[in-house]
Amino acid sequence: MKYLFSTLFLFSIINVSAQTISPSPEIISKHIYKLASDKMKGRGTGGKENAKAASYVEKEFKKYKLKPLGTDGFRQEFIAKVRRVVVPDSLRKTQNVIGFLDNGAEFTIVIGAHFDHLGLGNQGSSKDDHPEGKIHNGADDNASGVAGLLELARYFSGNDTKEPYNFLFIAFGAEELGLLGSKHFVNNPTLPLSKISFMCNMDMIGRYNPDRGVGIGGFGTSDQWPEIFKPVKSDIKFFTDAAGSGGSDHGSFYAKQIPVLFFHTGGHDDYHKPTDDAEKVDFKAEAGILNIEFQIIQSAMMLPKLKFTEVKN
Ligand SMILES: [Zn+2]
Repeated sequence: MKYLFSTLFLFSIINVSAQTISPSPEIISKHIYKLASDKMKGRGTGGKENAKAASYVEKEFKKYKLKPLGTDGFRQEFIAKVRRVVVPDSLRKTQNVIGFLDNGAEFTIVIGAHFDHLGLGNQGSSKDDHPEGKIHNGADDNASGVAGLLELARYFSGNDTKEPYNFLFIAFGAEELGLLGSKHFVNNPTLPLSKISFMCNMDMIGRYNPDRGVGIGGFGTSDQWPEIFKPVKSDIKFFTDAAGSGGSDHGSFYAKQIPVLFFHTGGHDDYHKPTDDAEKVDFKAEAGILNIEFQIIQSAMMLPKLKFTEVKN
């Protein structure tokens, strides 16, 4: 009885501390409603609201006491070429937002998500028949990924454990124009690429469908992923896919021979349409997906820097 009591007591302590730091559906919802609100006008590259979204991320990074690791504080500015539907191509200033959690370790884990979306439908790639002037809110694509990025930053900076790896959190700009922010980062890294163990990308993790499950790409980019995934337990269904490139910012890291993972809940009818709205996101399932990602990262941190494997087609 005494033993049972102390075990229960210990369990409740662990449980309480885990609750305060685990991914929160409420906080995820707050970030997504903010970033995908009409006020943000779809976060189109070069627009005032795109800069506002970057400021939102920066403010959160400061709250978590991350170190700025852009080229100008947290910002890494670059010029994106915007292919407009109605007027000729134009050049727009935008940026990545980069925060570093320094654990004094030799190697670093990169966690990323793009914060831009299609704006008012003038920059191409909308699936709407008449997209011009319509706000493309981009709640799933990719306010959901940014919320995930912020939740992982909150967790790793707020716990009292000093992990054996540093973390670099990057909100990428201009993904929708061809992975421009992540390409700019890997070609102008603010930390040597040789110091990166692996990269986790979140792009569209808000539309969990229990029949499909969440897809985790990049499984073939290191021979060590199968071993790392073994202890992962979750009520959320997931499946793996070997490919290291295709569709989003992790591809830029894979091209530099860095192991990657890519979290994605799949396509849907609102994809790249003005109807990709916050109320359609499953915040609770997203918290569960982040919990899987968190377990994978924890498991990977038990190993030395991961070895890259090229994926054979
Ligand atoms: Zn996206």
